[in-house]
Amino acid sequence: MKNIGIFGGSFDPVHLGHMGLAEDAAGQAGLDKIIFIPAAHQPFKLDRETASGRDRLRMIELAIEERPYLEVSDCELSRKGISYTYLTLREMKEKAGKDGRIHFITGTDTFLKIETWKKAEELLAEYSYIVGSRPGYKKEELISCIERIKAAYNTEVRVIHNVELNISSTEIRRRMEEGRSAEDLIPGPVEQYIREKGLYGSRKYAE
Ligand code: ATP
Ligand code: MG
Repeated sequence: MKNIGIFGGSFDPVHLGHMGLAEDAAGQAGLDKIIFIPAAHQPFKLDRETASGRDRLRMIELAIEERPYLEVSDCELSRKGISYTYLTLREMKEKAGKDGRIHFITGTDTFLKIETWKKAEELLAEYSYIVGSRPGYKKEELISCIERIKAAYNTEVRVIHNVELNISSTEIRRRMEEGRSAEDLIPGPVEQYIREKGLYGSRKYAE
C-alpha cells in the first residue's frame, strides 16, 4: 500500500511554512510521497490576480529540488475552469489505483473551511486528512470541527505536531511590493526567481 499526500494551495509563492508542513506530514504520517498541486483558479480567491501558473509551478520545482519524495503536478493548471479539489482527488485516486491511499494535507485555516467546499460530502467520506497547525487558530475550534466531521462522515483525520511557522504568501507578497527581503520566509532559489522575474512588484526595486 502506498500512502500519497496531496497538498493543494495557491502557492503564490510557495514558502517555508508549506515546506515545513510537507516535511512534518511525510515524516509523521509515513507518506511515500507528497504531490504539491498549485490551483489554477481557486474558488475562494477568484477576485485576486495571482502570479502565473507557470511561475508558481516553477517556484515549487525550485523549492522541492533535492527532496525526491516531494513532487509537483500541473493537473489543476492544465484543467479548464475553477480548480475544485474534488475533481483533483478523483483524478489522483484513479491514478493511484487500489494500492494507493490518498491523504489530503492542509493547514488549520483550510481544514476549518472544508465543509463549505464543493462536494464536501464526497471529499470527507472518500479521503483521509492530515492537518498541521498554523499560528493564529484556536486548537479547540479545530478539535470540535474534527469531531463533527468524524461523526458525520467517519473521516480519518490526523493532526500532526508540526513546527508552527508564522508565514503566509500574503506577507511575502507585501514584503516584495515594499522592496524588502523575504529570505527568512522562502527558500533561497525561490526568492532569487521572484527577483529575476520581477514578480509581486519586486521589479521596481531591481537595478
Ligand atoms: P495566502 O496568504 O495567499 O492565502 P498561504 O500562505 O495561506 O497564502 P496557501 O497557498 O493559501 O498559502 O496555502 C496552501 C496550504 O498550506 C493550506 O492548506 C494552508 O493552510 C497551508 N499553509 C500555508 N501556510 C502555512 C503555515 N505557515 N503553516 C502551516 N500550514 C500552512
Ligand atoms: Mg491561504
